[in-house]
Amino acid sequence: MAVARVSSSCLPRLLSSPLLHSFLRHFYSSIPTVRRPHQRSFPIAAALSEASPSPHAVMEGGAMEAPRSGPRRTWKPTCLYYTQGKCTMMDDTLHLEKFNHNLMLDLPVNTAATDKVKDQKLDYFLILDLEGKVEILEFPVVMIDAQSMEFIDSFHRYSLLVSRDFLQEFEDWMGNHNLWSKEQGGSLNSAAFVTCGNWDLKTKVPEQCRVSKIKLPTYFMEWINLKDIYLNFYNRRATGMMTMMRQLEMPIAGSHHLGIDDSKNIARVVQRLLADGAVIQMTAKRQSATSDVKFLFKNRIR
Ligand SMILES: [Zn+2]
Repeated sequence: MAVARVSSSCLPRLLSSPLLHSFLRHFYSSIPTVRRPHQRSFPIAAALSEASPSPHAVMEGGAMEAPRSGPRRTWKPTCLYYTQGKCTMMDDTLHLEKFNHNLMLDLPVNTAATDKVKDQKLDYFLILDLEGKVEILEFPVVMIDAQSMEFIDSFHRYSLLVSRDFLQEFEDWMGNHNLWSKEQGGSLNSAAFVTCGNWDLKTKVPEQCRVSKIKLPTYFMEWINLKDIYLNFYNRRATGMMTMMRQLEMPIAGSHHLGIDDSKNIARVVQRLLADGAVIQMTAKRQSATSDVKFLFKNRIR
C-alpha cells in the first residue's frame, strides 16, 4: 500500500457516469510507467500476447522472462472500467488497442517453470494491495493458482469504506470461486491473502471495519506477508515490493501505487518465488478471542 495516486473519492460516482471513459482516458495518458532505466523496452507483461500464443519464453532461474524473439506485445494499461465490470467499449477497436482487458497477459506463466513449483499447502493465493491513507480507496485482489501459477481472476473495487454491500459483493465473488462459504464458517477454503507487509490486514481492514461498525470477517484474520516469505526463502531482506523486484531483477509493469498494478507486480513476485521453489504459507494469524496477531515466522521483517 501507500498513498493512492488516484483521487479515487470521485471514482464510485464516476463509474456510473458517462464522463467515465473520458476521465480515465485522460488519467491513463497521464500515468507514467515506472521502469528501471536499464530494463528492456517492454516489460515481462509483454511476454505473451493474443497474437503470440506460444512465445519463445526463456527461463532464467525465474518464473518468466520476456521472449527473445517473436512478436512483441507493447504493454498497455489495464482498463479500469473493465476491472470494475463496467467497460462499455469492448467493441471499440481503438479502445481495445489502447487498454488491456485481459489481466492474464500481465501474468504469463512459463510452463517449464511450473515443474519446479513445490507442493503447496494452499490451492490459491489472493494477492491484495490496498491503497488509501485515511480510508481504503482501492481494493484490488488478484487470484492465482498456487501450483500452476496461473492467473485465475481478479476482484477490483474503488470504495471509500468497507461496507456491508461491498463485503457482500466480495463474498459472492469468493463464493463463485469456492474460496469461501458462509456455511463452512468464516475462513478461506485452501486459499490465503498475500500482502506485501502486515499493514493491509493487521491494521487497515480492521480499522475500516471498526469505522463501518462491521465485525471483522474471519477470512481477514490470517494472511501471508510476502516480505517474511521472501526473507526466509532468499535469506535477504526486502522492505517492499520495489526492493524485491529490484533484487530479483524483475521489471516493474504499470504504475506504482495504482493498487491493481501493484497487486499484479506482487503476484509476479509470488510466481517467481514459486518457480524458484518456495513454499508459500501463512505468516500471521489473529486470535479471535484477544484480537492479538500472532506471527508464525521467527525470522521476519519488523
Ligand atoms: Zn475498456
